[in-house]
Amino acid sequence: MYLKSLTLKGFKSFASATTLRFEPGITCVVGPNGSGKSNVVDAIAWVLGEQGAKALRGGKMEDVIFAGTTGRAPLGRAEVTLCIDNSDGAIPIEYSEVSITRRMFRSGESEYEINSDRCRLLDIQDLLSDSGIGREMHVLVGQGKLDSYLHARPEDRRAFIEEAAGVLKHRKRKEKALRK
Ligand code: ATP
Ligand code: MG
Repeated sequence: MYLKSLTLKGFKSFASATTLRFEPGITCVVGPNGSGKSNVVDAIAWVLGEQGAKALRGGKMEDVIFAGTTGRAPLGRAEVTLCIDNSDGAIPIEYSEVSITRRMFRSGESEYEINSDRCRLLDIQDLLSDSGIGREMHVLVGQGKLDSYLHARPEDRRAFIEEAAGVLKHRKRKEKALRK
């Protein structure tokens, strides 16, 4: 399983549809300051369901939509598709490629798709939860994050271990069931 490609359309500085293709192994994204490297990382967090504007380095959720430049009008929606190679079957679905799409309009409404079929964010989270990918799965380690893990309280550190062991998914389901 590896990240095969990422397509951004109207997401932050990526006004025109842009596809980044990745190979297995390590990829480095390089470029001048302000060229959109961090926006690529934000897009991965966003498509996996990030709901916090601050986590996406914005003031409000709408800030992920291309806001326009002197020569180009703002857009009405942002769309990101992440394509994962699943030839090893790490994701429990009968496809060798899994694409996850999120689309958001200025109204703030988000749509999600798995392999072009509309779904809920919960379906995406469920599908990915055992594969080690997900919004809260520490797939993205931001600046200063490592430090916070090292200095975490024992309860919080337990959550990391539970997550790595695949227990977190069941705990969340249990909490949800109890709330009903
Ligand atoms: P650095 O090397 O400084 O970390 P970077 O390559 O990570 O830079 P980003 O932070 O990804 O750069 O990109 C910042 C650019 O994205 C800024 O020019 C900003 O104006 C632009 N940007 C962010 N949000 C939007 C938006 N909604 N619409 C248009 N442009 C945006
Ligand atoms: Mg950056």
